[in-house]
Amino acid sequence: MDLISSVTLTKQLFELVNIIKDERDQQKVKEAAGALSEKITTLQLLNSEISSLYHSEKQRAMEICEENTKLKMFISNIEHYTLHKTPAGSITYKPQDTPENEVPSYYVCAHCYQKTIISILQPSADEFAFHMLYCPECKNKFRSTPLPLVPKRIPPPRSP
Ligand SMILES: [Zn+2]
Repeated sequence: MDLISSVTLTKQLFELVNIIKDERDQQKVKEAAGALSEKITTLQLLNSEISSLYHSEKQRAMEICEENTKLKMFISNIEHYTLHKTPAGSITYKPQDTPENEVPSYYVCAHCYQKTIISILQPSADEFAFHMLYCPECKNKFRSTPLPLVPKRIPPPRSP
């Protein structure tokens, strides 16, 4: 049922009330009273349906408002970051005010950034030949910088 049905139902209720008020034939009044009782029950069910719909829409409106606030915060933050490729080749975001030849103080996860989340990458255990960073939000790992090359220790020549 919808609101149009509710309007139609309300009109029918008034017609039945008028019959009960004006009709002299007791049988017709009795039938109208029975129909009126039925219509009132239907109207109560409709009212309950509309009330439930109202609450779910109100909940949805609150969720949309919350999402809107998050988006506004993200948009106000977005201008502070720029796309960046780490020395090891990972794509991240960095603070825009980092001078070109300087290592940024922190990186932001590019994956989360696409989902409007600013997640600052954290140091992780080195892997292979790279310093690693990980995202606390999505758990992705990023190569930060290559590890410095450690010269192999060459044993001193044995004296004969
Ligand atoms: Zn992430």
